[in-house]
Amino acid sequence: MPSCLPIKDDDATIRKALEDAHLPSLIAALVHITGDASPIRGDIKPLYDFFGDGQGSLTPEQCERTKTQASAALKAFAAGGSKMPPQPSGDVIRELMDFVAGAKIPEHYVPFLMEELALTSDDAKAGDWGNAIPTAAKKDFRVLVIGAGMSGVLAAIRLKQAGIPFTIVDKNSDVGGTWFENTYPGCRVDNPNHLYSYSFEPNYDWPQHYSTQGKLWAYFRGVADKYGIRELVKFDTEVIESVYDEARSLWTSRLRHKDGREEKIETNAIITAVGQLNRPKMPDVKGIESFKGASFHSGNWNHSVDLKGKRVAVIGTGASAFQFVPEIAPEVGRMFVFQRSAPWLGPAPDYHHDVEEGQKWLLKHVPFYAQWYRFWMFWMLTDGIYAAVQADPTWTTRLDSVSAANDFLRDVLTQYIQSQSGGDEAFFKKVVPTYPPGGKRTVRDNGVWLAALRRPNVELIVDPIAEITPRGVKTKDGKEYEVDVIIYGTGFHASRFLSPMTFKGRGGVDLHRQWDGDARAYLGITIPNFPNLFCMYGPNTNIVVNGSIIFFSECEIRYIMGCIETLLENGYVAMEPKRDIHDAFNEKIDAGNKQMAWGVPQVSSWYKNAKGRVAQNWPFPLVEYWARTRAPDPKDFEFRKAARS
Ligand code: NAP
Repeated sequence: MPSCLPIKDDDATIRKALEDAHLPSLIAALVHITGDASPIRGDIKPLYDFFGDGQGSLTPEQCERTKTQASAALKAFAAGGSKMPPQPSGDVIRELMDFVAGAKIPEHYVPFLMEELALTSDDAKAGDWGNAIPTAAKKDFRVLVIGAGMSGVLAAIRLKQAGIPFTIVDKNSDVGGTWFENTYPGCRVDNPNHLYSYSFEPNYDWPQHYSTQGKLWAYFRGVADKYGIRELVKFDTEVIESVYDEARSLWTSRLRHKDGREEKIETNAIITAVGQLNRPKMPDVKGIESFKGASFHSGNWNHSVDLKGKRVAVIGTGASAFQFVPEIAPEVGRMFVFQRSAPWLGPAPDYHHDVEEGQKWLLKHVPFYAQWYRFWMFWMLTDGIYAAVQADPTWTTRLDSVSAANDFLRDVLTQYIQSQSGGDEAFFKKVVPTYPPGGKRTVRDNGVWLAALRRPNVELIVDPIAEITPRGVKTKDGKEYEVDVIIYGTGFHASRFLSPMTFKGRGGVDLHRQWDGDARAYLGITIPNFPNLFCMYGPNTNIVVNGSIIFFSECEIRYIMGCIETLLENGYVAMEPKRDIHDAFNEKIDAGNKQMAWGVPQVSSWYKNAKGRVAQNWPFPLVEYWARTRAPDPKDFEFRKAARS
């Protein structure tokens, strides 16, 4: 059950904290505390507005009135001993959902959102993890978890809770995955932190609304320690190859440790949790080896290179460069930013803001405030903007939008960019994207990006790069930019799923040969010919505008645990998806992606593989992934029992 710290503060402290409240969430919490639903049935009706003030456009008088009421209610609550109030009726909770969301929530979202809201449980996505399965059966089933980033730690937590033995390995020397590896200046999460956390491990002490890499890493490390996972991880250990033995229904994996020592382990199942974005991609540009100065990729930032006063070339203007360019621009001597496509900027005024002390106090002390606040963020980012990135097949008006709603969004975002261009038309033309909003990841912006590009020591180059020379970067117009350092913000080999590992499934089928550069899985998790191989953050489980990857990982691990339970409960030793189910699913995914801004032909991005297919993204509302992964449907799988000896 959710709980709160008792309120022992004086009236002034309470009143001060209320200044930092998210008011729609506060009003919902007041309904819990007082049992009186009248505040949501009066004149206050928060509005859903993605780019709005975050307070549902309440009037100043409504804001003041709410804080006064809250102050009195919290005083009475504290006087009564800060006892957690009983839950309102289901009807009132349903009313509260629409109220806080500022929108009429469709009925089919309600069970999904109720789970996210988690009013009655600290871990609403935890199952019973197969309590009915005899311990002995569990003890005989071993799992290899590959990766100890956000998904791998989560998998290990769930396996441990279920009493299923596992080995967890990571190529790095600590947990954290992307938050361990990416140490470039300015690296931070671009999803609000109170949402970008495990649902069962909220952190009411996030220092910023979008915290920096070190804080993210500390969070995942802290959770891994709390659940006793970090001590179990074999660090500096890579999986080289995993081979399935059909006769024994076992995977044999060859692990290589940092010192070159190899080890083989046998497991009944494998969970891959290796992320999509951790193999840095250098651009395919002539002369790249010839450069005489220092050069490195953003994913392998070389902190020993002193950039102070140096001439620096930055190649790429994606989400990583967007974060490090404003950080290093003031210290470098001169900077040339080479842009192939401009990013769309989504306004996030609090992008670099500290979480207000009052907000932290409310999250910790006010019953159900934290739950409603997270619910509000979840709804804002769930499917709020989803409709605006869906392509209308009849839309032919222009190529930089895909529907009337998308065109409206393009207009709003274009005005936002124009407002920061200082009246410089030539600059504005360079920095306004020429592809539809949602075609690539929209970066969360508070103005620092364009301000950095407009600095006197920074030049934005849009002429295509012809080659890298020993002295710097030469563009197609023949101009050479001499620099001391080149920083590649050129992204990752995202579509090479599970590379460079080798997986040999039933009949010795090689996974990469089966995929042939076009990775596919059923629900992004299971693959025909590869029994008991389960992927987390696998093909088509990335998201562009809605939700957080943690949400997907939590859905995936619940499904995977359901698969393991199904095996053990029924005495099966292996399962793999039926080919026709897998193929039909992927056809549906492909049709869905073609109707999204990132799937239209005029957009190219890391979401598309070399064959032009969107192999990364989930094209549907989150509720569909949630519904489909709550439990495996046995009809989707081929199961095998152990061969009799
Ligand atoms: P990216 O989004 O793939 O950006 C790569 C950039 O390099 C793009 O601007 C690309 O241009 C450019 N580029 C690539 N090859 C080039 C070439 N040969 N010549 C010139 N330019 C070239 O990579 P990223 O910035 O590392 O981000 C990858 C993903 O990681 C993001 O989409 C996001 O999902 C995630 N990420 C998240 C965060 C966060 O949460 N805070 C931060 C960083 C990254 P084109 O666009 O024209 O291809």
